[in-house]
Amino acid sequence: MNRNPSLADRIREWPKAELHLHLEGAMEPATVVELAARHGEDVALEEVAARYRYKDFLGFLEAFKWVTSLLRDPADYVLIASRLVETLRSQNVVYAEVTLSAGVMLRRHQDVAENFAALRAGAEGAAAGTLKIQWIFDAVRQFGPQKAMEVASCAAEQRDAGVVAFGLGGDELSLAAQEFRGVYDFARSQGLHALAHAGEIGGPDEVRRAVEVLGAERIGHGIAAVGDPRVVELLATRRIPLEVCPTSNLRTGALGKVSGNQLAGLPEHPVADLFFAGVPVTLSTDDPAMFETSLAQEYEAALSAGLDTTGLIRVTEQGFESAFLPLAERQALVARFHQVLRMQGLL
Ligand SMILES: [Zn+2]
Repeated sequence: MNRNPSLADRIREWPKAELHLHLEGAMEPATVVELAARHGEDVALEEVAARYRYKDFLGFLEAFKWVTSLLRDPADYVLIASRLVETLRSQNVVYAEVTLSAGVMLRRHQDVAENFAALRAGAEGAAAGTLKIQWIFDAVRQFGPQKAMEVASCAAEQRDAGVVAFGLGGDELSLAAQEFRGVYDFARSQGLHALAHAGEIGGPDEVRRAVEVLGAERIGHGIAAVGDPRVVELLATRRIPLEVCPTSNLRTGALGKVSGNQLAGLPEHPVADLFFAGVPVTLSTDDPAMFETSLAQEYEAALSAGLDTTGLIRVTEQGFESAFLPLAERQALVARFHQVLRMQGLL
């Protein structure tokens, strides 16, 4: 046995939370090939790899659209949900909030309730009690508020089946936050938590609007906040967590936009600046297969961007603390993490 495990080995052993993870973006190329074959389509691994390479954020959205076009019946969702759970278990993720693009399902005239029941059963079967999963239904911003309202209604209907939040993704620059205020008011009235992608390819004002106009309780990405100290302060004082996904930001060009340098690499990622400014930062993979990453790699990215071991421990705690779970469950997850830290001599 290795008596001096590296930090990476230790982090692998840490129980972790994933709060920003799209089910559809977690489809590994081999799974995509398998799905296509199910539907009589001949797709080669090389084609998937080529489609998983993007020049910019809109290119990524195109690829996302393509990959979701292969999800046609409940059995497809069972397959990808069980594969996702295998990946999460291998990463020692013990709690996940998984986002489902319900807006895309509705666009394809699919039965959201039927798909969701199937994929939930697939995920729970694969998890076998080792991993707790809750769900988020995401609307596509550019499809407009009316479609978003349909997603919020579906989410409300599935409240008892483990849907905890309503979110908004897609093209942040397409429609103003204000347009979705009524949808968020409705979601909240149904007991759903409110999430939004903001400050990914949009500026700091989008983050502020997500908080002040939509009442978002956590922000997907939000890295652009770093460009406005007032927005950083807003997040820090109101304790609004950011779900930071460094590799995603690199691969979609969002990082280049925020840093003002298209050639910026992970060391230039603002995750450490935001963390040290007191913003509750968490780490996630976003679309791990589409960005060829894993949660372990996101920890590496955060290290290279300037977080140290103490910072990563805090970020891991914040992942549990920011979960949409009752306080006692959040505390139990943190306690479980601390137990591992003690065994590793890190606490
Ligand atoms: Zn996302």
